[in-house]
Amino acid sequence: MKETENNEGMINASSPETKKPKQEPGLHINDGMKSASKKKRNFSIWYLLLVFLFFFFIGQMLFTSHMPTVSIDYSTFKDLVKNGTIVQVAFDQDQYIGYAMTKDEARSTLNELSRTHQLPQTIDTSSIIAYQTYMIDDPSFVPLLDDMNIEYYATEPVRPSALASIVSLLLPVIIFALFYWWMSKRITGGAQGVMSFSQNKSQLVAEGDTGVRFNDVAGENEAKAELVEVVDFLKNPQKYAEMGAHIPKGVLLVGPPGTGKTLLAKAVAGEAGVPFFRMSGADFVEMFVGVGAARVRDLFKQARENRPCIIFIDEIDAIGRQRSSAGIGGNDEREQTLNQLLVEMDGFDSRTGVIILAATNRPEILDPALLRPGRFDRQVLVDKPDLDGRESILKIHTKNMKLDSSVDLRKIAQASAGLAGADLANIANEAALIAVRAGHKAITQVDFENAIEKSIAGLERKSRVLNEKERIRVAYHETGHALTAYLTEGASPVSKISIIPRGMGALGYTLQYPTEDRFILSENELLGNVDIMLGGRAAEETIFGDISTGASNDISRASDTIRQMITEYGMSEKFRNMTLPRSSSGIEGVSGAKEYSEATQQYVDNETERIMSERYELVKSKLETNREALVNIAEELLKSEVIEGADFEALASKYVVR
Ligand code: ADP
Ligand code: MG
Ligand code: ZN
Repeated sequence: MKETENNEGMINASSPETKKPKQEPGLHINDGMKSASKKKRNFSIWYLLLVFLFFFFIGQMLFTSHMPTVSIDYSTFKDLVKNGTIVQVAFDQDQYIGYAMTKDEARSTLNELSRTHQLPQTIDTSSIIAYQTYMIDDPSFVPLLDDMNIEYYATEPVRPSALASIVSLLLPVIIFALFYWWMSKRITGGAQGVMSFSQNKSQLVAEGDTGVRFNDVAGENEAKAELVEVVDFLKNPQKYAEMGAHIPKGVLLVGPPGTGKTLLAKAVAGEAGVPFFRMSGADFVEMFVGVGAARVRDLFKQARENRPCIIFIDEIDAIGRQRSSAGIGGNDEREQTLNQLLVEMDGFDSRTGVIILAATNRPEILDPALLRPGRFDRQVLVDKPDLDGRESILKIHTKNMKLDSSVDLRKIAQASAGLAGADLANIANEAALIAVRAGHKAITQVDFENAIEKSIAGLERKSRVLNEKERIRVAYHETGHALTAYLTEGASPVSKISIIPRGMGALGYTLQYPTEDRFILSENELLGNVDIMLGGRAAEETIFGDISTGASNDISRASDTIRQMITEYGMSEKFRNMTLPRSSSGIEGVSGAKEYSEATQQYVDNETERIMSERYELVKSKLETNREALVNIAEELLKSEVIEGADFEALASKYVVR
């Protein structure tokens, strides 16, 4: 729109011959109206402003001639007067309007036109009856008109109507008033944000139906069974009241990240059909001391008003951390918030129908006061899913996916031991993405396997190139792991060996698919695991006669396992069936002081060293016996980069001697 207007202006200025009818002002107003009605939905102030503009234009329109007029420049105008086209001239303020016929003729023509045409859009040049130009201080003009015997007159100067003048007077005042009102609202709003701490965060609005049901949570059957009871508390409180039972106030969902704690809390609210107040522990923690406490007070007030309902505090460890007695590291704000939470939990009767759910993945750092009876006395463990759980989680997340007939979710579940629900959801999605990238019609088993590898071992790094010497070393190292696994009784079968570098650390990897989940490992199995970890380095030494840094992760895991066997599982000779504990330091990742003597520590170190070298020598001798197998499989690995489980099995059974 703007563009064409500009163009029009330019044509008018440069080429006087162009006789393009100027659009009626009425049209512009229509345009303005359209955009006004669009914007009003967006912003009321703009709406008001546009309403005023509308009136302003209405006023303008009232004074504007309805004659179809064409703008021409002064010299053309004068020429038209000279050649007799213009027979009548009106002096209209700062412009001349030249009529091509008398006023009466013009009026009748216009009437005729409006009958046949839809004015003003379609006026062809033949119907032009008036020309307009701007006045120039030309003393010869009036004499010319006299000479040509042309009728000329001045029109009454337009006086703005009462409405227009009122609008033009009031408009600035109104705009200013609106602006002032808006600013003051903002300023006081901001001040309130600082002054009234209890102001709710937007989260404090009760959420309607969460849309999540227990059916959307797979596995976690024990957790669900406990929470079904909570739903019943909310639905039929009188049943429990009649029996004289107290309904628990708080239920703490405990479990590793991504296992579906948040999901379960939503499912409880969804099943019970009650409002759901969700806040994250971090929402309570603010700069100012007292804000969090005020928020807690507010939260419980709201909950009481909306009962029965569920309060869900996600990541409660953000506020529920153990209060420290020492000044250092003490956090007044957090402690006040926690105290307020404790007070509020004591202060209400569970018969009111408010149940508090909280989630954390670090229950050990929570303040004991939070966990005592009457507060979060129920703890529901939301653990990583088992094989069946993983399969049903995969089922849920692949429900709406196009799966190839080759897909075996059971197998995928087997391959993803130790992963949480969120990881599995991610794997399913990743498989779909891979399938799209590969141009498959449906998601295949291979896509899933790639997705698992991607999530377990990190992205394939194609850009990372090993030199030939390193590649050979990695091949023997990985073959060492695999062969040791093959030679170790009771070890899970090798499912894949690869020397394609992945992620940040791994230059190659050997995957073993456990056939089932293991919760208990026997002493021999633990030692078998240690053997497999040591297999890589042992193979390197067998073949190259020296060892490399490539095994650092293997040996640290192996030593940790042996140390744990001695200190935690009571599997050493001297401290058989006895743990050697460490006190918890309260800081994650830092173990506390050991609660045993220096001499015992000495024993632990010596034993670790002894067992480790014993196992290492054992593995090395096994590999030396099977040097041929080691060489052949490593050569095959160097050729094809990846050996699948079945192929490895075939190669191993061909070369291995026991
Ligand atoms: P948490 O709160 O325990 O860290 P979430 O509840 O936020 O984990 O889970 C993250 C996502 O992982 C969920 O939105 C869901 O898609 C998926 N998920 C996790 N556990 C399960 C499960 N047991 N069943 C189905 N989906 C799950
Ligand atoms: Mg969560
Ligand atoms: Zn290794």
